Amino acid sequence: MNIILATHNKNKVVEMQNALSELFPDVVVMTATEAGFTDDIEENGATFEENALIKARAVSKKGYISVADDSGLCVRALNDEPGIYSARYAGEPKSDEKNNALLLANLSGKNDRSAYFVSAIACVLPSGEEFTVRGVAEGVMLTEQKGEGGFGYDPLFFFPPLNKTFAELTTEEKNKVSHRGNAIRLFANELSKRFK
Ligand code: IMP
Repeated sequence: MNIILATHNKNKVVEMQNALSELFPDVVVMTATEAGFTDDIEENGATFEENALIKARAVSKKGYISVADDSGLCVRALNDEPGIYSARYAGEPKSDEKNNALLLANLSGKNDRSAYFVSAIACVLPSGEEFTVRGVAEGVMLTEQKGEGGFGYDPLFFFPPLNKTFAELTTEEKNKVSHRGNAIRLFANELSKRFK
């Protein structure tokens, strides 16, 4: 089983390879670059799922399974912003520090601090069939950052079941409960329905 992941990020490839290799021992996951795709992909969808599908379609190749993910943070009191604009919420060049500062400013005075991370994974199979899955993690936005790990909005995202922010979790702990971990498990399950 050969999978092309629409990313240049080797860490995402290793994460996907590890998650799938238990169910599919012969799986080989490669980056878009390794599969010969070097062009930037314009993500102009209106939802996480649309953006993930745009990227998965852009790296589809005969005989290969192509996969892409798109993720972000949705804050209820801000009409689910920053949503699909999470990476560049405070503009270019993208900065986690500026994004977190803007989020705190926009949330000041709001009572509802509930939020959820979303990770959508889209897949195009060699048969032409397409499907998407969505993983979610529910939390609460703090008023100041806590924890040194993770990236992006992790230091502001408090996860009640573990009584910690995502930035206070180890990678293994985060993978067990995160939107991305949940999406990858749902994706593996969908693949196993089709290839076992
Ligand atoms: P991407 O689609 O995985 O590149 O994520 C887009 C943006 O969403 C990132 O740049 C972060 O700002 C935010 N984001 C997605 N997943 C996470 C996470 O697990 N922790 C913190 N921020 C995240």
